Amino acid sequence: MSTTDMSDRPHVVIIGGGFGGLNAARSLRRARVRITLIDRRNHHVFQPLLYQVATASLSPADISTPIRHFFSKQRNATILMAEAIGVDMDNRLVRLTDGQVGYDYLILAAGATHSYFGNDHWSPMAPGIKNIEDALEIRRRFLLAFEAAEREADPDARRAKLTFLVIGGGPTGVELAGAMAEVAHKALLCDFRSIEPTTARIMLIEGGDRVLPTFSPNLSARAQKDLERLGVEVRLGALVTNIDADGVCVGDEQIKSKNVVWAAGVQASALGRTLGVEVDRAGRVAVDADLSIEGHPEVFVIGDLAHVTDSCSNLPVPGVAPAAIQEAKHVAKLIEREVHTGQRPDVRASFCYTNKGSLATIGRDKAVVRTKRLEFAGWLAWIVWALVHASYLVGFRNRLIVLIQWAWAWVTYERGARLITGDTSMTLNTCSISSASESSSHNAPSATHGQSAPATDRDDVNASVHAV
Ligand SMILES: Cc1cc2nc3c(=O)[nH]c(=O)nc-3n(C[C@H](O)[C@H](O)[C@H](O)COP(=O)(O)OP(=O)(O)OC[C@H]3O[C@@H](n4cnc5c(N)ncnc54)[C@H](O)[C@@H]3O)c2cc1C
Repeated sequence: MSTTDMSDRPHVVIIGGGFGGLNAARSLRRARVRITLIDRRNHHVFQPLLYQVATASLSPADISTPIRHFFSKQRNATILMAEAIGVDMDNRLVRLTDGQVGYDYLILAAGATHSYFGNDHWSPMAPGIKNIEDALEIRRRFLLAFEAAEREADPDARRAKLTFLVIGGGPTGVELAGAMAEVAHKALLCDFRSIEPTTARIMLIEGGDRVLPTFSPNLSARAQKDLERLGVEVRLGALVTNIDADGVCVGDEQIKSKNVVWAAGVQASALGRTLGVEVDRAGRVAVDADLSIEGHPEVFVIGDLAHVTDSCSNLPVPGVAPAAIQEAKHVAKLIEREVHTGQRPDVRASFCYTNKGSLATIGRDKAVVRTKRLEFAGWLAWIVWALVHASYLVGFRNRLIVLIQWAWAWVTYERGARLITGDTSMTLNTCSISSASESSSHNAPSATHGQSAPATDRDDVNASVHAV
């Protein structure tokens, strides 16, 4: 059946091809609807493994899937590569940079980006990690630092080049710092002549009193110990007051570094603010129990863009991939039922979140797992972490390739994606990247303390920031 035969079907427009949008469209595959999925990129990214692209373990294509290919056999779905810039809910229109699209149902799943808590000028010096471009920029800087240090005669300058600071002790920061330490201390061991990569200093800076604050204190302590065993210096209670081309200020102390990564804050997509409805301090849109916007039962918000309270536990739903997926399936079911049976929106079921637990890895054989009933750490946790992440990856090819890469790296410590691409001049710490402009366009919360920003469970919001 061609898509033109579907013009009389209700039109479901989905903004975002991340975990939420992709699963919403997929769950509507048998529904008598016409779907238009809009994303400004042509690919879905498996964000939980971005840090492995940033540290040269995986290549971008290993964790990405072309959205169009994913839906190639789903005849009721059309993919548009376009940027949404606003929603006119009164006239049921999504405004794009170059046009507009009307809808009968709208599912907003535009996700989040990083937040510098009002210090957007830090972004060129301290890139965050949200998409493939970010990960490649961090990889470029990370690998280039060793090249620059190899040619640096001055010991102080060399030390600054080999000092890597990761700001934010949530899962992303912990995973990045652990992976950087493994690369520096194992993978690069014999590859340089003038420097000892093992002397690279990797520091994790966290404003709170423990890393992984959403895990239990026991698991936080275990993660910190594992990081330290890998050679990561963990600084707790350290509030960042400034970042410039020379390094990071923590209170009165300046830590010289040419290589800083930001893993400390999350800010919902700016699209939420264009709706003219209530948003929280992180820019997330408040939704009703069925995940629609009050007064607009035809508009749903899901994933990292939504501020959802779990109808079963009355607790906030965390900003994690399983939540986005479950919300997507819930919304798809509601739409399908209404289209097929004519059920009225006022009798919709409320959304209940099933929390299957949390995982974070620190390095080879090192991870922490927390479920409802038990928590554990060590190699078994690492296997669980690896299997769960591989199973959530989109596409069999990616799953297979990633498992092979991990097995190879486990045996050899090798990192196969050690390519320096883009700008190869050895000026570190000064370039601006794609996400910088996005982040600065946001009205970042005026958080004087990153710690007071609303929690998303995943990370990173419990930042190590004291804005000046
Ligand atoms: C580095 C990192 C590590 C993470 N690790 C984990 C983990 O281990 N476990 C876990 O459960 N969660 C993890 N998360 C969180 C998880 O990835 C998110 O909760 C999840 O991706 C949210 O899904 P989403 O669909 O709401 O948004 P996203 O997956 O972010 O997708 C949003 C999509 O919308 C598109 N988009 C945005 N704005 C527009 C626009 N204006 N117009 C058109 N398209 C637009 C984007 O291109 C993107 O494709 C991690 C996140 C990051 C950044």
